[in-house]
Amino acid sequence: MNSNLAHQALQETCVICEEQKVKGIHLYTSFLCVDCENELIQTDTSDPKYKYFLKQLKKVTVPEIYS
Ligand SMILES: [Zn+2]
Repeated sequence: MNSNLAHQALQETCVICEEQKVKGIHLYTSFLCVDCENELIQTDTSDPKYKYFLKQLKKVTVPEIYS
């Protein structure tokens, strides 16, 4: 698909599982691996695991909004 991104195959630390992954998406300045992204999508909001995801994702939002 995006073969032009091959040179960017650097490992980044996923904000949720905190493992070094190559594939994923960027949320602001943070990185979310595809595994966690898929799991997040499939996890019901009533699942305790969802709260864990939210807790981890809180690290993504840099507290810069002081309005
Ligand atoms: Zn992950």
